[in-house]
Amino acid sequence: MSFTDIDARVVGERMYALCAELYPICRSITGEGIRETLRRIRSHIPLEIHEVRSGTQVFDWTVPKEWNIRDAWVKDRTGKRVIDFQKSNLHVVNYSVPVHRRMALADLREHLHTLPDRPDWVPYRTSYYKENWGFCLAHNDLMQWQDGEYEVCVESQLEDGSLTFGEFYLRGKRTDEILLSCHTCHPSLCNDNLSGVAMVTQLAQLLSGASLEYSYRFLFIPGTIGSIAWLALNEAKAARIRHGLVAACVGDPGNFHYKRSRRGDAEVDRAAIHALRHSGQPFEVLDFSPYGYDERQYCSPGFDLPVGSLTRTPHGRFPEYHTSADNLDLIRPDALAQTLSVYLSVIRILESNACYKNLNPKCEPQLGKRGLYRALGGLADAGKAELAMLWVLNMSDGNHTLLDVAERSGLNFDLTHQAAQTLLEFRLLERFEQAPAENGGGTRR
Ligand code: ZN
Repeated sequence: MSFTDIDARVVGERMYALCAELYPICRSITGEGIRETLRRIRSHIPLEIHEVRSGTQVFDWTVPKEWNIRDAWVKDRTGKRVIDFQKSNLHVVNYSVPVHRRMALADLREHLHTLPDRPDWVPYRTSYYKENWGFCLAHNDLMQWQDGEYEVCVESQLEDGSLTFGEFYLRGKRTDEILLSCHTCHPSLCNDNLSGVAMVTQLAQLLSGASLEYSYRFLFIPGTIGSIAWLALNEAKAARIRHGLVAACVGDPGNFHYKRSRRGDAEVDRAAIHALRHSGQPFEVLDFSPYGYDERQYCSPGFDLPVGSLTRTPHGRFPEYHTSADNLDLIRPDALAQTLSVYLSVIRILESNACYKNLNPKCEPQLGKRGLYRALGGLADAGKAELAMLWVLNMSDGNHTLLDVAERSGLNFDLTHQAAQTLLEFRLLERFEQAPAENGGGTRR
């Protein structure tokens, strides 16, 4: 697998353009918005679009009724729209039931949501599992409203239908899978939602052209209920997932964050942290917690899949989170491209990580006579390539993977992988297929 020909500027712009294209669509956990989003993604990758009927029992949850909306507004006494869904889909509480009535501002207030501490921003609110309705607006706008009567209208439908999700399965040499999952249920919000959607789409496109060891499963699902539905309907497939990452909040210029899987030291955890450590970018590692995105479901104890989450600024830690300010100004093409490059590094590690056996384990093989060691002796330190060969030879006892070598030596994984390839060519090393049993985080190939 090689991605050396990626032009960061081009892919960054491409991902940003997809975010911009999808931004106006009013998405939710069900309905036409998510379907339209998936159709547009399908013009980039051969996505399969699945429908799960309302009322379907998925573990402890029930697939909800399908929600669709045509319009929503609040009019003042003069008939002027003081809230208009056509201007921003964030103005209506997602999953609002239909309503059309006149009411006094005092009564209407309990259905209005603002952010007094961010008075120019419109909050994003949902009411998926409790039938309700409401509007969201800038606090400063609400301050302008006069007391008196208002006419409110939500032209929505909440009826039996289905939940829609997208899935793209890319076959590699092995049936073992790498899962890449993103949520596609947020309306006009960029970093939390669209950045992950665009990056996973781009990743799928790039991997489609590569020769792959693992098979890949890309999921575009509504948050929580989507992963629960997928897991409930695909328990047998879930058992093939060897590594996984949940992608969200990947387009802002903030520092990287890696949230460990529940296992904590799974191979994907170590690969992600190694990739970040060698990315030259500042990053933070977070322990698993049962709060966040769909890793909560993948890492529930009945599945306990090795799935972490690689983000930039995590959910809830940027002020624009779940507000109208999480818009196209918050995300940047270069930030998206940088994140994509880290994801590709993680994938490169997982694809190439393996256990090897030194075929000349009694003392070092003489590298010089094979032309593998610099001819000139006495220099203060070995070159990095030579050092990597020495590390790989020393640790290749059948109990350590290349990632173990990279971690212990402090060398970049790619360097240890290149060293192993050279040593294989010179028949100083052989691939060791047996997985090291005691190494919980090691390869299971
Ligand atoms: Zn969110």
